[in-house]
Amino acid sequence: MHRPDPMTRVLAPGPRTVRARILAPSLRVVRACILAPGPRAARAPARSAGLIAGAATVLLAAGPATALGGEAPAGALDRAPPPARSAPGSVRPAIPLAQEAARREIPTGCRRGGPPFRTNGPRNKKVVALTFDDGPSDYTDDVIRILVREKAKGTFFVLGNQIPGRERLLQRMLGWGFEIGDHSYSHPQFPSSGQLSITRNRIRKATGFTPCLFRPPYGAVNRDLIGRARTLGMMTINWDVDPRDWSTPGSGAIYSRIVGAAQPGSIILMHDGGGPRGQTVAALPDVIRTLRVRGYRFETVTELLRHRFVYEGNQR
Ligand SMILES: [Zn+2]
Repeated sequence: MHRPDPMTRVLAPGPRTVRARILAPSLRVVRACILAPGPRAARAPARSAGLIAGAATVLLAAGPATALGGEAPAGALDRAPPPARSAPGSVRPAIPLAQEAARREIPTGCRRGGPPFRTNGPRNKKVVALTFDDGPSDYTDDVIRILVREKAKGTFFVLGNQIPGRERLLQRMLGWGFEIGDHSYSHPQFPSSGQLSITRNRIRKATGFTPCLFRPPYGAVNRDLIGRARTLGMMTINWDVDPRDWSTPGSGAIYSRIVGAAQPGSIILMHDGGGPRGQTVAALPDVIRTLRVRGYRFETVTELLRHRFVYEGNQR
């Protein structure tokens, strides 16, 4: 008589929650130790649920979890962020998000004022600005997804040489109400006017938005550079909170450095490009939640500085 394998029943295909220890959180690929309900689970065929006990690489997707041997395929858009700093946790199907930005009007520019160089906004309101440098990159979509889901805004300081092929990503940022700033063309120290204007023009061509913020590569500034940016209509923006996420100190360190240093008006530096940014992506949801619990709101840099976006019938 045929007796069905009990684990086959337990692990029948379909959306379900599994206990897993997250080993290296990232939105694109999560390496997880699946905590099986019993010793027999270790012998259950992977194909029955797409999961095996022990180390596994898991794509977090809408619907049943899927075991993968490598990177998530292109177009696997519905990825849930892993539960950072919570192990063991649950790997759950993602909440599907609309792939396109909310169809809000995209600004054409902004009205500026005040000093041409800033590292923070007003200290009298519990508002901070999350900023992301060196993109756009393959991580940028994950950052956007988290910001949208957590209802927080961000400002992206992009490199001109990373824009080609990612024009729609820039449009999507603005469509969600985020901001784009100029981070030079190829990230040299003290970039020339040409470095700034190429990037500004590429942003404008891609989106119809003319950036009004410049972030200097490495945060290196002098009077001439601030003047060059100002001539091109941009304020120079550094930061007052730096978790040094570029050094990949671990998502826990990135989280604690940010929430330990943030104060009203803070401009928080992070990176969505220029290297492996999975730790930054993994830390971001808890950064937002913790600061929100403390009463903070998240605005773009232009909003933080009490400037206004300008809308002139941008049809993009
Ligand atoms: Zn940079």
